[in-house]
Amino acid sequence: MFRSAELVTALRSVTRELFERLRDETVDADAAYVVAPASIEEAAAVLAAAADAGIPTTFRGGGNRRQTGAPAAADLIVTTTRLASIIDWRPDDLTVIVGAGLPVDDLESEIAERSQTAVLPETAAGSTIGGVLAAGASGYRRLRYGPTRDRVLQVRMATGYGKVVTGGSPVVKSSTGYGMARLVTGSLGSLGLIGEVTLKLWSRPLAVSTVRVDDAAAAYRRTYRPLAVLETPDGASLYLGGSANQVAAQAVAIGGRASPNLAWPEPITDPVRVEMRVPAACVEEAIRWVQRIGATRWIAQHGVGIVSAGIDALDVAGVGAARAWAESVSGALVVLAGADDRIDPWGTPPPSIEIQRRIKAAFDPAGICNPSILPGRL
Ligand SMILES: Cc1cc2nc3c(=O)[nH]c(=O)nc-3n(C[C@H](O)[C@H](O)[C@H](O)COP(=O)(O)OP(=O)(O)OC[C@H]3O[C@@H](n4cnc5c(N)ncnc54)[C@H](O)[C@@H]3O)c2cc1C
Repeated sequence: MFRSAELVTALRSVTRELFERLRDETVDADAAYVVAPASIEEAAAVLAAAADAGIPTTFRGGGNRRQTGAPAAADLIVTTTRLASIIDWRPDDLTVIVGAGLPVDDLESEIAERSQTAVLPETAAGSTIGGVLAAGASGYRRLRYGPTRDRVLQVRMATGYGKVVTGGSPVVKSSTGYGMARLVTGSLGSLGLIGEVTLKLWSRPLAVSTVRVDDAAAAYRRTYRPLAVLETPDGASLYLGGSANQVAAQAVAIGGRASPNLAWPEPITDPVRVEMRVPAACVEEAIRWVQRIGATRWIAQHGVGIVSAGIDALDVAGVGAARAWAESVSGALVVLAGADDRIDPWGTPPPSIEIQRRIKAAFDPAGICNPSILPGRL
């Protein structure tokens, strides 16, 4: 890592001029340079220069979760504040192309005009589409609609070696098979900057309902394709969507207290946040584990197998024991916020780590993009 003054003098004048010209005055951060490219080509030029000079670089959307993982300190921050527009919305094709810096809320409120949704995380205030994709984050409605990566049709990105690449296909029906669009979803900015994203959209249900129930698992067994089934320390709720008749009939059959909206739980904002991902059948046991490690707030997604929890202070031994249990059932425990030197945020690296290492080396040969943010400190 360079100290700021050293970096500025070490750079070639053409690079210095590029970084100065793109300086992002809206972001106050502790880095030698914060730049906001206005196109993916400009982002690629920035990354080519950064790779050439070996500058550790990070990316920033809304900046909500930038502390996740264990990234090395960066001398250069590339923001997406100037890549934040709706580029091409095709309501009749149920697709939209957006700049990665577009806030999720802005997209959802725009496309709600035609009763459409991108089914991105519901409580992601200020989060950008690029940040959500980079984190591989999905919303609660993944129970019905699948994870976010299933809706990413195409991605244009600036790689760590400073080239613009496009992966996937902009149409819903395509036979291109596995592609880069899925690869970059969840890559946490380790391969380059996601600049532009094509998403598949869904029609919003005509009617929705939140039904409070006593027993989430039992109510889920009696319900056909709910949007989500969530349990928190305050109780359990089923979230329904469909035609007015279907929703009303299901709510009556479940027999709980119903309200005609989707009342999502408040997001967890505790200083330490962990996420357990386990087989759906193990969710009740995962709830017991997060209670045991002192979770004050938790949100369990029945049918999906994710339990997010907030803790006041990190109990290293307790989190280690909970992680050992999660890994023993082929799951994982990730410390999303508040990890320190005493605990790895990710846990045991997956068997695919060698493949991940080769992918990282191919996209980011100089190793400048969010260095060591991934599992295994890649
Ligand atoms: C592993 C993980 C799982 C999560 N799961 C969920 C979930 O299921 N539901 C939910 O609601 N929230 C989830 N979150 C939180 C979610 O990450 C945030 O809501 C969202 O990522 C924040 O968006 P942001 O624009 O503020 O991103 P930032 O905080 O700005 O960035 C997040 C990360 O992505 C990188 N990044 C940002 N923009 C780009 C880009 N354009 N190209 C490349 N890299 C970029 C950053 O360097 C940083 O590492 C999860 C977070 C993580 C890390």
